[in-house]
Amino acid sequence: MKIILAEEIGFCYGVKRAYENAVLYSEKNNIYIYGELVHNSDVIKKLEEDGIKMFTDIDNLPEDSKESTVIIRAHGISFNEEKILRENFSEVVDMTCPIVKNVIKIARELQDKGYFLVIYGDVQHPEMRGLKGNTDEKMLIITKEPQIIFHQKVAVMSQTTVAEKKFEDFSDKLIEINKFSDIIIKNTICKETVKREKEAVKIASVSDSVIVMGGKNSSNTKKLFEISKKINKNTFYIVSPDETENFNIKGETIGIITGASTPSWDIKKLLANLDKSNFS
Ligand code: SF4
Repeated sequence: MKIILAEEIGFCYGVKRAYENAVLYSEKNNIYIYGELVHNSDVIKKLEEDGIKMFTDIDNLPEDSKESTVIIRAHGISFNEEKILRENFSEVVDMTCPIVKNVIKIARELQDKGYFLVIYGDVQHPEMRGLKGNTDEKMLIITKEPQIIFHQKVAVMSQTTVAEKKFEDFSDKLIEINKFSDIIIKNTICKETVKREKEAVKIASVSDSVIVMGGKNSSNTKKLFEISKKINKNTFYIVSPDETENFNIKGETIGIITGASTPSWDIKKLLANLDKSNFS
C-alpha cells in the first residue's frame, strides 16, 4: 500500500500558535479558554488533560477568574466579549489568528469608506460572530445565498475558510442580480486553506481512496471532504484515527488530507493504524 500524505497537514499556522501558547501558559498559570480553542475534540481533550479549562458562557464566568489567565481562541471573539474578559480576568492572552485580525481590519477600513459589506460565510461560525462583533453590524450581511442588496456601494468579502470557487460563484451571482454603482471584491480566504484545497484536488485525482480527518464542526475539513468526494467517490471522513480500525478502504494508493485543527498525534496514529492493517 502506498500512502500519499498532503504537504499542508495538521495544525495550520493560527491553530499551532494558539495551541502552543495555551500549553506554554498552562505551565505557570491557572488557565481558561473562552470557547473551543479549535474545532477538534481530541485537541480539547488534550488541553483539559494539561489542566486548561474551558467555559462557553460569557454571562457565567469562572469563580476564580480574577486569579486566572484567559486565552482568546484562534477564531477571535467580539469586541464586547473581549471587554468583559479584560474586566474580569487577571490576564488576557489574545491568540486570535493574525490573518483573522487582518480580515477585521480590512472590513473596518471598507466600512469607514462607506462600503456596505457582503460577507460570504456561515453566520454561526465563531470567526463570523467575531467579525460582526468588531465592526458596524448594521453595515454588513453574512450569507451564503446571493441576494438583492439595498445599497449601491458594496464590498464583497469572505470567511477565511470557505472554498475559493464557491466564493467566486457567489460574487459573480451577486453582481449579476444587483445593480451596484461601486463594487469591490476582496478575497479574504486564508492562503493556507487554499493550498489545502489544491492539494485535495491533486490527491483525490491520483489515489484509489482518500481519508479526510478532522473535527466534526470544522468547516475547512468539511470543505476538503466535499472537494475530494466530488473527484473520488472512495473518500472517507473520519474524526479520529480510531475509526480506521474496522475500515473498509480499498486500493493500493491511499491519500491522506486533514483539516487545519487536526493534531499531529492523530496523524501519527492514523499512519500506524494503516501500517498495521491489511488494506488493499
Ligand atoms: S485557517 Fe488560516 S486564518 Fe484560520 S486560523 Fe488557520 S492560519 Fe489562521
